[in-house]
Amino acid sequence: MKKNVIVIGGGVAGKLTAKALSSFFEEVIILEADQEYKQKGPRKRTPQSHQPHIVLKKGAESIEQLFPGFKGELIKEGSPVTNFTNDLKWLHFGYVKQPFEGDLLLNQQSRPLLEWILDRFVKQVTNVLFRYESTVESLLFDPNKTKVIGVELRSKGSNNREKLYADLVVDTSGFASKSRDWLSENGFEIKEEKVKIDLVYATRCYQLKYPKKQGWKNLLYSVSYPDNPNYGSVQLVEDGQYLVTVGGYGDKYSIATNEDFKQLVRNLPLQDVSQFIEKAEALTDVKVHRVPFQVRRRYDLAKHFPENFIVIGDANCRFDPLFAQGISVVAAEALELQKCLEREAGVHKGFEKKLHKKIAKIIATPWDLAITEALRNPEIKGKRSFILPIKLWYTKRVFQVSAYDPEVYMRLVRVMNLVQPSTHLFHPKVVKSFFVKRNKKSHNGKGLVTKESSTRKTIHHDAD
Ligand SMILES: Cc1cc2nc3c(=O)[nH]c(=O)nc-3n(C[C@H](O)[C@H](O)[C@H](O)COP(=O)(O)OP(=O)(O)OC[C@H]3O[C@@H](n4cnc5c(N)ncnc54)[C@H](O)[C@@H]3O)c2cc1C
Repeated sequence: MKKNVIVIGGGVAGKLTAKALSSFFEEVIILEADQEYKQKGPRKRTPQSHQPHIVLKKGAESIEQLFPGFKGELIKEGSPVTNFTNDLKWLHFGYVKQPFEGDLLLNQQSRPLLEWILDRFVKQVTNVLFRYESTVESLLFDPNKTKVIGVELRSKGSNNREKLYADLVVDTSGFASKSRDWLSENGFEIKEEKVKIDLVYATRCYQLKYPKKQGWKNLLYSVSYPDNPNYGSVQLVEDGQYLVTVGGYGDKYSIATNEDFKQLVRNLPLQDVSQFIEKAEALTDVKVHRVPFQVRRRYDLAKHFPENFIVIGDANCRFDPLFAQGISVVAAEALELQKCLEREAGVHKGFEKKLHKKIAKIIATPWDLAITEALRNPEIKGKRSFILPIKLWYTKRVFQVSAYDPEVYMRLVRVMNLVQPSTHLFHPKVVKSFFVKRNKKSHNGKGLVTKESSTRKTIHHDAD
């Protein structure tokens, strides 16, 4: 058993990773630049906390494996459980999906509640220690530069850098991680794949003035190029609160005030969100978040890499948040780390290489999905392979057919929730559905997919 491990950053990845490491090291030290998290609320160093954070099915399962009892805690704290296909009103590529009781349930919560519960769980692990207001500024190497042996950090209020040594260092410091630079300064080059997306996200939290049934608990208008470039969503979270989000890609969105937010809501292709906020009371002002690019750092492809150093979470790959994959990928990576440590009975030579390859496999499908969809936007620059138009055509057909074919919808939902690989969508049943004449009567007897003229485009939706 090795002695101690340093985890850089105590966000979602840091907490899950610390738990994964805790059975294999005597001491796990989390170095966190932020202050201690003493009550549920957005954290200064994670400004995305104000935005909705959906944890996909795969993510919730992975977290539950790392912290048994996690889902129960969420429910105790008022987090609702929804039926994905029944409780979501979803407009995508001109179709509103027909709702039905499927078998995929989701726990829904705000990001502060998620982090608050993870924080409580990790603090119960006796050999995990936190040092707050401690910012890591560089890695320490052995004289031959073959191994990472610790970090240099600066504590708040101190002018001096402190050296801290460890048997293993794990970087979970998020998308702004400096690991690539620190490695480069020491002769290790890491390739980076970057796709500029210029995503703008704007969210306000609401509560209904008079709680009443409105036929949906969550609402999603997906960006659907070329007809609809605007994103809109309403997500039910704990305590009967709703996070209402609007946004889109490119520099055309200037959102600074609550009035700008309302104007964007009015520009959405259907009026549900406008009607919703009229019936609701705003609990917060608008919070805007910009994501300039998606980025994947190829630690798995490095020809030379130092021993005893691992990169996990957004520090390794940051996805377009519209696909809600980040936390679920982070959780799967932490779980994979735990499995590798179990299999190999600790960290041995070549461990980091093997783990980075496993992590790359976890990232591959969600990255491909996010990149493919990004390239649907003609303004986004990026390598467009000859196969891309076929992929875009196929996925668009899946999105559209899923509106009225429950088998295809369930398959789509499983792939989106990372519980099935993308090959699940290439089943002959899916291909056949493209050529089946649409039945005007749905599986549950409700009228289906009638045409209705919306503000600008034709929207196909449920008749009732
Ligand atoms: C607008 C938006 C919406 C999103 N929506 C979703 C969603 O719906 N579903 C989903 O799954 N994901 C979503 N994500 C992605 C999600 O936020 C990230 O995937 C997740 O937070 C990654 O966790 P992390 O621990 O790697 O990084 P972070 O959560 O960013 O945590 C990094 C931590 O490291 C600390 N740190 C940084 N540098 C140092 C240093 N040098 N020394 C010490 N500490 C340091 C920071 O203070 C911070 O606490 C969204 C992201 C954004 C931006």
